[in-house]
Amino acid sequence: MKNLKNADLHCHSLVSDGTLSPSQVASRAHTNGVQLWSLTDHDEISGQQEAQAASLALGMPYLTGVEISVTFLHQTVHIVGLGFDPDNHVLQQGLAQTRGGRAKRAQAMALDLEKKGIQGVYEGALGLAENPDLISRAHLARYLVQIGLCKTTQEVFRRYLVEGKPGFVPHQWASLQDAVGWIRAAGGMAVIAHPARYGFNATEEDALFSEFKRHGGQGVEVVTGSHHPSEYSTYAAKAKAYDLYASRGSDFHSPEESATDLGQLDYLPPDLEPVWWALQPRIQHPH
Ligand code: AMP
Ligand code: MN
Ligand code: MN
Ligand code: MN
Repeated sequence: MKNLKNADLHCHSLVSDGTLSPSQVASRAHTNGVQLWSLTDHDEISGQQEAQAASLALGMPYLTGVEISVTFLHQTVHIVGLGFDPDNHVLQQGLAQTRGGRAKRAQAMALDLEKKGIQGVYEGALGLAENPDLISRAHLARYLVQIGLCKTTQEVFRRYLVEGKPGFVPHQWASLQDAVGWIRAAGGMAVIAHPARYGFNATEEDALFSEFKRHGGQGVEVVTGSHHPSEYSTYAAKAKAYDLYASRGSDFHSPEESATDLGQLDYLPPDLEPVWWALQPRIQHPH
């Protein structure tokens, strides 16, 4: 495992806002040469059993995973949890609480769009969400593409559903302390997801990294499909400065939408400590 390079520890299935089943994502990861995999659906771990079984059946080692939505400095930040016990009640209850507000939020977003003349978005998005408890802006975006309002979901996220645009509704997610605490309570490692995505200034970003460390967070994504390759070195330096393990993951959602496929990213820079070194005892191996 020390020489392992092609780990993909961030991606989504239809248990949250991906479009493939956990087993289909497992097959795709395996086909693409992934040597260690984790399915990290948003705020939801009900796909873990299927993901792990499919992964091990393919001979591909597995780590449990989740991506928790957090509000930090009035922004949404994502914290990935890896290698936790999926039966842990603290984690299960925390996730149930944090995803609980999603239906009302989606309804409020749809109502705002309705005021701008776009009808039926909640019902339409719900029809595209396999898991009704996990309706995400990605589902609303797909519906807006389906009705021809935009050509791609990327276009939707430029014109709608983001701050200052129609359909945006601010939301209070979990606190950073709670999210890291739930992951740790379940024996897992907390990892800052795609740090370049947040648009924090240097002071705010330092606050995120410092508080994350203080609460017991241990990792940061350096190579991710949600970063531009030019950002890898910035966060490699951050990992060293804050003494964090480095992670790698495609953030794959769907063959149609995702720019980065499973297992296709650059490898981690060689002078970092990968999260999978520290997570060795938590990795499930095929029999
Ligand atoms: P939510 O958790 O409901 O706020 O939805 C966030 C999800 O929407 C993300 O996990 C992505 O799947 C998708 N998303 C957000 N912003 C963008 C963007 N700019 N381009 C494409 N997808 C996005
Ligand atoms: Mn998503
Ligand atoms: Mn994310
Ligand atoms: Mn993600």
